[in-house]
Amino acid sequence: MLYEKAPAKINLTLDVLHKRDDGFHEVEMVMTTVDLADRVWFRSREDGRIVVKTSQPFIPTDRKNLAYQAAELLKRVYQIHAGVEIILEKSIPVAAGLAGGSSDAAATLRGLNRLWKLDLSLDRLAEHAAEIGSDVSFCVYGGTALATSRGEVIQNLPTPPNCWVILAKPSISVSTADIYGNLNIDNLAHPNTAGMIEALETANYESMCATLGNVLEPITMKLYPEVVTLKEQMKKFGADAVLMSGSGPTVYGLVKHESRVPRIYNGLKGFCREVYAIRMIGERHSLD
Ligand code: ATP
Repeated sequence: MLYEKAPAKINLTLDVLHKRDDGFHEVEMVMTTVDLADRVWFRSREDGRIVVKTSQPFIPTDRKNLAYQAAELLKRVYQIHAGVEIILEKSIPVAAGLAGGSSDAAATLRGLNRLWKLDLSLDRLAEHAAEIGSDVSFCVYGGTALATSRGEVIQNLPTPPNCWVILAKPSISVSTADIYGNLNIDNLAHPNTAGMIEALETANYESMCATLGNVLEPITMKLYPEVVTLKEQMKKFGADAVLMSGSGPTVYGLVKHESRVPRIYNGLKGFCREVYAIRMIGERHSLD
């Protein structure tokens, strides 16, 4: 059996520039992978079928699963006759703004590239990824990057300065489509993407904290007041900076000093079931 790690991502920035003629939004996002990951296993099947199994009963295992779609795409394009069993051991909270499904799909592209000996580059896999979903291309590479266009144009960035990330997910699920549906494109508080890139290039932790920004945050907060409470609590317990990831509802706090982590973690655990104290990963995936 072959194995791939599928890490979650957080948005350091998320901006929406305008709505395009094709209906998609033109975005600008700085994303980084964090050390919370699904494990994805691959086993060959002789009957030619794609079979997805998952540790979480409410995730679809049919064509709606993004890992299934990734396998189907490679099988069709490269005319693979073999089948595959894909086992998703989920750790990333679902519908949380952490790109769990996208990362599983990206891991499937990398995994099947090896299993089926396709010998494709990461760039080629990222092109296929764009057909599956906007965040999948970034997840093919991992690390830290600026994603533009629909999210599929990826430019590598330096790893963020070393720090802890406390993730907390309120027990609600947020649909990305709903949040984008509530977006008023003429009235957005745009984050300072250039400032974030400069903070990363100069490895300046304080500037990174000061330039975190997500244009979707006020929309999700208006619909789900739980997110507001969580942000306030995280700040009160001592996080250096706090932001919602993706379309939410997961909120994360950055913390430089390890000694502060237990207080924030334990404080949040008092009223939020899903809390994680993790680190950024930084490193990009490679093909070996
Ligand atoms: P993003 O940040 O990219 O918007 P997300 O973290 O908000 O993603 P996901 O965890 O990817 O959201 O799940 C969103 C929906 O996608 C789920 O409700 C689920 O039905 C569906 N889905 C499809 N494939 C997967 C998968 N492999 N893992 C989890 N959910 C999946």
